[in-house]
Amino acid sequence: MDEKYGFYINGEWTRPADRETFETKNPATREKLAEFPLGNEEDTREAIEAAEDAFQDWKKTPAPERGNIILKAAQIMKEKKDELGNLVSSEMGKIIEEGRGDVQESIDFLEYIAGEGRRLLGETTTSELKNKFSMTVRQPIGVVGCITPWNFPTAIPCWKIGAALVSGNTIVFKPASMTPLCAAKLIECFEEAGLPEGVLNMVTGPGSVVGNEIVENDHVDSISFTGGVDAGVHVYRNAANKLKPVELELGGKNPQIIMNDANINLAIEGILFGAFGSQGQRCTATSRLIVQDSVYDEVMEKLVKRTKDLSIGDPVDPKVDMGPLSSEQQLKTYLEYVEIGKEEGAELIYGGELDGEQYRDGYFVKPTIFEAEHGMRITKEEIFAPVLSVMKVKDYDEAIRIANDVEYGLSSSIYTRDVNKAFEAIDDFETGITYVNAPTIGAEVHLPFGGVKNTGNGGREAGTTAIEEFTEIKTVFIDYSDKLQKAQIEE
Ligand code: NAD
Repeated sequence: MDEKYGFYINGEWTRPADRETFETKNPATREKLAEFPLGNEEDTREAIEAAEDAFQDWKKTPAPERGNIILKAAQIMKEKKDELGNLVSSEMGKIIEEGRGDVQESIDFLEYIAGEGRRLLGETTTSELKNKFSMTVRQPIGVVGCITPWNFPTAIPCWKIGAALVSGNTIVFKPASMTPLCAAKLIECFEEAGLPEGVLNMVTGPGSVVGNEIVENDHVDSISFTGGVDAGVHVYRNAANKLKPVELELGGKNPQIIMNDANINLAIEGILFGAFGSQGQRCTATSRLIVQDSVYDEVMEKLVKRTKDLSIGDPVDPKVDMGPLSSEQQLKTYLEYVEIGKEEGAELIYGGELDGEQYRDGYFVKPTIFEAEHGMRITKEEIFAPVLSVMKVKDYDEAIRIANDVEYGLSSSIYTRDVNKAFEAIDDFETGITYVNAPTIGAEVHLPFGGVKNTGNGGREAGTTAIEEFTEIKTVFIDYSDKLQKAQIEE
């Protein structure tokens, strides 16, 4: 595969001749997959202008009709699921089962949100005056900037694009530079589904240039951002100068607690999937395992044994359990944190090194387990790689205290057979998502997704909340009394 792509602006693929280009590569082989232009401010402004021009017509397109186009795009993705799933694995490195899962999540969400075209519910309520009717309606915001990371290269863009489109907004989309080919293939599905020109535009290039222009440009009315905390804070600050609404979905440092009464084998299955699925590169990945003392030795023994058995290799091979890290930078970060863990006195129980005799060119690493003390950097900072810190605790209170003592609050999990403890944990975890007897990963599209503390700024994507970030509420009063009525004024 060696394709040349351009920007997608006003329904056309364009490649300005003088732009520098960048390559997207397969992290298992470092082979080039495709070439994209490095966009600049001017390209971004052109895309914003196209979105602005398309807005009024799209806004006036009946919402069920907007939903039908989204549904059509979902159907096209379904037909291309094998091809797209393969591409997700080849460009991002997650194993094929998860690559297909990424695409399935995109399809599920688009199908779900297409139906919102027949809801977009407002409220009707009473009035304090006679013969007066009051209600709220939802309206689109305008031009929306969607800025996305690389770890769910189709699902995260679809969550944003689907919800923004059904709500009647037009879009400037900037995908991560590690996975632009997945983004381009996604655009093609919407194009094939008949999305009008200018409604969805894509510019590739650096976050500091393209992303920044989207955030600062006066003609972009709202920003939907998923990525790391540093970039998120930067985006939030810049958008604040323009009083622009921003939704931020940021990092995580997600704990799994195993209590003495847990089903240990089930808990081990959960931790393997949660910590090492997608090579630990999920915002909801389990990076801390907090184990009650009586079962600690049993958990460690079984965990290490099962971890050693995980097969690492080409992610498109269905027999493989773990693919490569997604980039050289990810590899560097992994190795840095392994060193940090060792230096601060954590005990390296397994992994911590490169793997892969047969794929020397890929970014293959071993799943890594540290025995750690709460407070070490590896127990507090998001690593975004398959590095698990395990900590021993004496009771539930200590487990919850440690679980909550981090800056993030995305996902959490507890394994216990005690229903009272399970419900207490639902109350006590300071996270946006809690699982009982299931790993920290596994979002479903019809439920809200997001976190507390530094994981975001309060919004939730997906579920019934998906359209909130993409709509304005208008309050409407209709007075049919045929006279001037004054609220709050005594007659
Ligand atoms: P990142 O912050 O480096 O980049 C995210 C996107 O922002 C990219 O498209 C990037 O080009 C762009 N960007 C970077 N700087 C920018 C700037 N100054 N202005 C505008 N745009 C800018 O993150 P990443 O490495 O792509 O993704 C990994 C991070 O994403 C992790 O922290 C992970 O936890 C987080 N994440 C969060 C969720 C969630 O829903 N909470 C989901 C997936 C990933």
